[in-house]
Amino acid sequence: MKSESRPLASDSIDVALGVTIPSRNARGRVARLGPVIDQVLANHGYPPVVERLLAEALTLTALLGALLKDPGGQMTLQAQTENGAVDLLVCDYLGGDLRGYIRHDPERLAEAGPNPSLFALFGKGYLAITFDQPLTNERYQGIVPLEGNSLGDAAQSFFSQSEQIPSIVRLAASKKDGRWSAGGLLFQHLPEGEEGRERLHTRLDHPDWPHVAILAGSVRESELTDAELPLADLVWRLFHEEEEVRTLTPLGLTRGCRCDAEYVRSVIARFPAEEREAMVGDDGLIRVDCAFCSVSFPMTLAELS
Ligand SMILES: [Zn+2]
Repeated sequence: MKSESRPLASDSIDVALGVTIPSRNARGRVARLGPVIDQVLANHGYPPVVERLLAEALTLTALLGALLKDPGGQMTLQAQTENGAVDLLVCDYLGGDLRGYIRHDPERLAEAGPNPSLFALFGKGYLAITFDQPLTNERYQGIVPLEGNSLGDAAQSFFSQSEQIPSIVRLAASKKDGRWSAGGLLFQHLPEGEEGRERLHTRLDHPDWPHVAILAGSVRESELTDAELPLADLVWRLFHEEEEVRTLTPLGLTRGCRCDAEYVRSVIARFPAEEREAMVGDDGLIRVDCAFCSVSFPMTLAELS
């Protein structure tokens, strides 16, 4: 295995790592998150089932975001549901910043028990994945039904069915001593001529792909979530018999949101005066919430003029 950069000590937590296996026409991303998840969850007071779901969703967001070529690119993951205990799940990625939140019905969630199926969580749900790459002015959105046993299954079918790219996705999250650790991997077969050519050569039965899928699929949940195991070492465990495996520069991940009090004020200040007045609550304040941060930005009418 050749590696372009030696694994660093920091290459084990809040990081994503790109991998290519040239001889197999495959590429992948592995990611692990720890403090970032704890920070995202901090203000919400979610029940454990929702915390786990969001931890996995953020890991998937990191994997998908790490596929963006444009450093200013944004990836948004949104689960829309019909009649599920979870009403809305939104996560996004921008330049290594991750954020996300989940809106849910606590009573219905409690009825679903400690290990609810995807159907119990989302009902008849859909997963929308959107890539925005301003540099090349590319915007792409794909939608798949939320089916299978896990969010990872749904993401896998997003690529395999919607995109016709054979893919494998694994996600895992565990909480120990009050702290979350989550990890995931995404590997894909790259069809010949993928760059700049029409994808005429996709062969879902390409002989190299099952081999890569078996090796990637052999990963254990405990390896994905082990915050002591550098991602490059994990890749080595899975693919060390391959002729050549390359890792890309590790990508640091942080918790980040674009909300801030000044910006929120400037947005509200642009509303017509009578609409601003209608926004004032009983306490004399206009309150604007950031659902991602679970914080409220209070302001008075006087501050806006
Ligand atoms: Zn925010």
